[in-house]
Order: sequence, then structure tokens, then C-alpha cells
Amino acid sequence: MLNTSIEYLKGVGSAKAEVLKKELGVFSCIQLLQHYPFRYVDKTKFHKIKDVKDENDYVQIKGILRRVDSIGEGRKRRMKGVFRDETGMLELTWFKGLSWVQNLQVGMEYIVYGKPTLFKGKVSLVHPDMVLFTEVKKANASTLEPVYPTTDKLRNKRLDSKGMLVIMKNVFIKLHPQRHLVPESLPDYLLEKLRLPGRYAAWMGIHFPRDKQQRDLAQKRIKFEEFFFLQLRMLQTKHQKKIGIRGFIFNKIGHYFNTFYQNNLQFELTNAQKRVIKEIRADIATGHQMNRLLQGDVGSGKTIVGFMCLLIAIDNGFQTALMAPTEILAQQHYVSIQEMAEGLGLNIGLLTGTVKGKRRKVLLEKLEAGEIDLLIGTHALIEAPVVFKNLGFVIVDEQHRFGVVQRAKMWRKNPTNPPHILVMTATPIPRTLAMTAYGDLDVSVIDEMPPGRKPINTYHKFESQRLWTFGQMKREIAKGHQVYIVYPLIEESEYEGLSEVKDLMEGYATIEREFPKPQYQVSIVHGRQKPAAKKAEMDRFARGETQILMATTVIEVGVNVPNASIMIIENAERFGLAQLHQLRGRVGRGGGDAYCILMTGFKLSSDGRIRMQTMVETTDGFKISEADLKLRGPGNIEGTQQSGVLNLKLANIIQDAAILRAARGIAQEILAEDPLLKAPKNAPLLRQVQLSQKKHGFGQIS
Ligand code: ADP
Ligand code: MG
Repeated sequence: MLNTSIEYLKGVGSAKAEVLKKELGVFSCIQLLQHYPFRYVDKTKFHKIKDVKDENDYVQIKGILRRVDSIGEGRKRRMKGVFRDETGMLELTWFKGLSWVQNLQVGMEYIVYGKPTLFKGKVSLVHPDMVLFTEVKKANASTLEPVYPTTDKLRNKRLDSKGMLVIMKNVFIKLHPQRHLVPESLPDYLLEKLRLPGRYAAWMGIHFPRDKQQRDLAQKRIKFEEFFFLQLRMLQTKHQKKIGIRGFIFNKIGHYFNTFYQNNLQFELTNAQKRVIKEIRADIATGHQMNRLLQGDVGSGKTIVGFMCLLIAIDNGFQTALMAPTEILAQQHYVSIQEMAEGLGLNIGLLTGTVKGKRRKVLLEKLEAGEIDLLIGTHALIEAPVVFKNLGFVIVDEQHRFGVVQRAKMWRKNPTNPPHILVMTATPIPRTLAMTAYGDLDVSVIDEMPPGRKPINTYHKFESQRLWTFGQMKREIAKGHQVYIVYPLIEESEYEGLSEVKDLMEGYATIEREFPKPQYQVSIVHGRQKPAAKKAEMDRFARGETQILMATTVIEVGVNVPNASIMIIENAERFGLAQLHQLRGRVGRGGGDAYCILMTGFKLSSDGRIRMQTMVETTDGFKISEADLKLRGPGNIEGTQQSGVLNLKLANIIQDAAILRAARGIAQEILAEDPLLKAPKNAPLLRQVQLSQKKHGFGQIS
């Protein structure tokens, strides 16, 4: 019955089934059962009118409807009710559904339910639910009532929360006699160990809870299950890769690595960097393919670590690749890596969308002949005509912009064995997200900044305080330092439009007035310039010929001018936290004091205010990404949507972090003992895993 279409359910029919399918993706009874309430109305508690205040959440009151009056005319017409219990009087207000209101029975005992608000200076319940007390007694309905998420289209088909509840009841009426046939997805020994209810009981407890306790336990079971199977799948994939997929063995440290280490490395690596290189070296010498995530805050020195690992691969006779999310970033990597590799005699190529015609052809030929040691580029790297002779190591920078599909394509670039893969995140991601979105990868963390970095002094200033900002700029420039001023792109779709440049140009006019030539020189960079012009402007700034660089987000990632000491972000409220953190990371690389000034208008959304506050309060990338996750929810963190792994209906990786950790721990324990889930006691797990593999097409590559 679980897999039958909801269309045949009592009270559904083809029209409702259609809209449920379209709006919620619900086809079958089991999918309907997995459409969970997002909150509950507590109908077990009654309030007294004297205690009702406008800051109350929903209240339920038993009392008598004393009168109902029509007030006002035409479109301003509303209905006012007077409701009283033994402690006082309360107003009820209706603006809609007035004919329904007229049918209420004055003088009768009602239960009203609603959210108190202040209306015309008085506490009032607007559009309360009202049920005759005699009816309630009949239905014995005083419980926790589930509230289901719904949409306008569903509401039009009378599938508001109450409508959902009706068909939900019908599912249970049909299912109840067959409840012993519901396949259990968690084995008995786990349910006993964790004291969790069975599957049917959990569904019952979540849709028709007797009390809070039962509901909480039901939710816990379902959240656990969601996390648990996610983890089981990821850990199994990881394990299968480890045992099933051979990897190249890079156990030689040779000319390139050694020469770089002795001649080119300008500074002492931090302990964290050394540790990570050791972890990676160990991993690529085992004979298994490496799939590793390298996490580290902005400026923690991930690039150099990645580069040194590439040198090891090249020392072992293999080709390597570095893939960046944007053209600009690929170019910057190309420039800075060429600098780092000076004198090593490496053949480094750059392949982006703008490398065309003859140049592209020659490059691809060399690549296939094995004459390129390191190919740097954008996703153009993974397109079909790009053929390596023997690709052995790939770095994917800024992973959050790449989907799982791209990662898988990289795998196939070497027909013998898949290359080792190191994924570097631009901005740290919270541990709980790493566990879910990247749970199949091993993780290395650079948790230490290069010496001499000081926390960047961050200020949030309004437009009216611009003079203060100018003062800071002048002071730093007088000390010989440089300043970035960054403007947001309004919308990606407007990238080609004028709006971004307009803001920038208006800002430029002001800056020119305040910072006149020849004392001050300004570089200006935006998306509508030709690449050559853009580069010339950036170079002038990098050489110190200009003191101020004004730009749209083109400099978001990668620019490295250690002499710059102030980052000014205009319309900072338009940036996300991760972006703000990235931008701020562009200053403070010179060892001296550094500043970040966030300029906003007075009007800020509450999210905007939290973002500014977070930036002012902390420079810790992990804390910032936690805050970001809380504000935006995991579904909106770039990269996780298309990865399809966060298919969580009830569980929340922030609020339920403890359950997530437990689920991962238990999945690890089970797989350590029974990696293929062949033990009879784990049969339900095996079945569930196979089912979801069929559904999601999760193969070896994830
Ligand atoms: P990110 O982790 O953001 O990619 P980068 O690799 O770009 O950071 O490094 C930021 C800057 O710090 C670069 O200029 C790099 O040369 C420098 N750097 C990296 N490691 C060290 C170190 N151990 N000591 C001093 N400077 C370092
Ligand atoms: Mg970087």
C-alpha cells in the first residue's frame, strides 16, 4: 500500500493528486507520510484572557461569544467580536470571510485559537479559529495539532493544513490494519539501543501525536534516520573507493619538490601546512585513490600547500591540473604559480574559455603529448576535447562553486586510474555541513595563520560617516599603504548592464574630488572593461603606482597586494557573509595593522544587520560560516543544492547537530564491523541502501 498512488486515496482524486505531485513531489502514500508538519498547535493548553498579551505566541481560550458587530463600510468593513471568559474580555477581528462570521452563534461557548496582535491600540485575535465547545467535546480534538507547509496552489485545491490533515487521516485509516507489514528501515538492535520507536509508530507520532513526548521521540527517530542513511551511504562510498579503486603511488620526492623547497620557498611553512602536506603525502603513497577536502581560512596558505603536492606528482612522472571557478582566478593562479615555480623548468599551461584557435590547438596537442606538467584553467579543463597523457593529481579550488558532476568528470580524465583529487574550499564550511555535503571525502584542515597576521579591525559605518572613512584612508595612504574600495554587482543577470558601473562611477567622482591628482592616483576595474585594460589597472595598483583600487567584485578572490591595508566595502549589505569574509581577507597580509570598513545605508534588513554585526565581531572564518549557515540554511549554501546530498526533510544540520554526530558515529561503527552490510541483523540497512541507490543513482562516484 505504501507505494500506491495517492490518487486512489479517499478524499484525494485526480485533481488533488496532480497538484500534490506538482507542488510537493508527492506521488505515493509513503511520500505523503514523509510530508511532515513544520510546527504544532498546542490544543492541550488553555489561556485566561487576563494573561493574553500581544507578544504571546498562539493562544487558545475557552469562553463565550458575547456579540458580533459589523463596523465600517465597503472595503473598510470589518467584523468585531467580543469574547469573554471569567477573567476578562477580548476582541476578535475579521476582515475577510465575513459571511462565515455572521453564522457564529452569539451566546454560545466557543474555543478560540489565534495569535494576539495589537489592533487599534487593543489586543485582538485576528481571524481566529473558532469551534463550538460542544463540537470539540464530541471530536475529542484537544491535542497537538500538526501544521503542514502548504502553497497557494495547494490551498486553491482545499489542501491547506487542515485539508492535508484530512487526507493524512485517511492514509492512516487504510494503513493501520496493515501496520505490521510496514518494512522497518532500522534494525531492531539499533532501535533498542537508541530507544527509538518503530517506523509506523514514528509516522503516527509525528502526524497524530498524543503528547509532546511522543512527538519528540517520533521526530528524533526520523531525524536520526535521515542523517544515518546519508552517512551510511557516504561512508560506504568512501570505503568502497578506498578498497575498490586503485590509485597511483607517488612515493618519490624528487628534483622539483626539492629544488622548490631549497631555492624558491620564501618563508617557513606553518606547522599546520607541514602537517597537511604530510597527510597528503601519506595518502598518495598507499595505492588508493585520494579524495580529500582541504579546509582553511582565507589567507591560511592553501595554494602553496596544493602546489607542493602537485610537485610531488610531477616528480613521479605525472601530469597535474588546477581547476578554478572563474577566468580571473585561473589567470591569477597562473601568474602566481609561474612566479613560485621560477627556475624549476616546469611546463605550465593556461586553458580558459578565451584561449582559442591556434593557441588552444597547440596547447591541447602538447597536453596530449605529455609536454605540459601543470594545466591551470577553468571548467574548460574537464570538457571532452581536453586529453591528458597521464593525469595524476588534480586540485579543485573553491569547490563550493563546482558540483559533484564536475568532480566525477575529472575522475575519468585518466583511463588507467582516476587521479588523486584535492578539493580546496575558499571559505571554511561548518563541520556539520562538511560531514554531510562532503562526508565521503577525507578532510585536512589548516587551522593556523602564517605568522605576523593580526586580526583585521572591522567597522560598520553609515553613509553619514563617510568623512570618517575618508580620514582613515588618508591616514593609511600617508603611511604609504594602499586602499581597496569594492562595489557589489547588483544582480548576476545585470552583469552586462550599466548598474554596477553606475554605482562605481558615481563613487569614482566623489573619490576624485576628495583625493585629487596628482597627489593621489586611482585604479578602476570593472566587468565591462577589456581584459587587457583590466589587467593594466590591476598591475598599476600591484606595483604601487596607484594608492586606491576601486572595483566591482572582480577582485573578490585571489588578488594579493600585501601593502594594501584598508578594504572598504560599499553597500556591504548586498554581500553575503562568505563574500564579505573573502574580501576582508585581501588586506592584512603585510604584517601591519589592517582595516575593513563596511559601508551601508541606514535601512538594513534584520539579516543584513546580523551580517554586519558578525563581521565586526569575529574574523574567524569557521564562526562566520556557522553564522552564514544559520542565516541562509544549508540548502542555500552554494554547491549543496545541485549535489543532491542534503535531501533532509525534517533534520536540520544546525539544530540537530548532536543527532548528526551520533548518526555518523553509529554508521562508522556498523561499517567497521560489517562494511558490506551482509550480516543478517543488518538486512534492513542493506535493503534501504540499495533502494536509495536505485532512486538517487548514487554510484561509486559521489
Ligand atoms: P588561501 O588559503 O586563501 O588560498 P594563499 O595560499 O593565497 O591563501 O596564501 C595567502 C598569502 O600568504 C600568500 O601571499 C602566500 O604566499 C602567503 N603565505 C602562505 N603560507 C605562508 C607562510 N607559511 N608564511 C608566510 N606567508 C605565507
Ligand atoms: Mg586561495
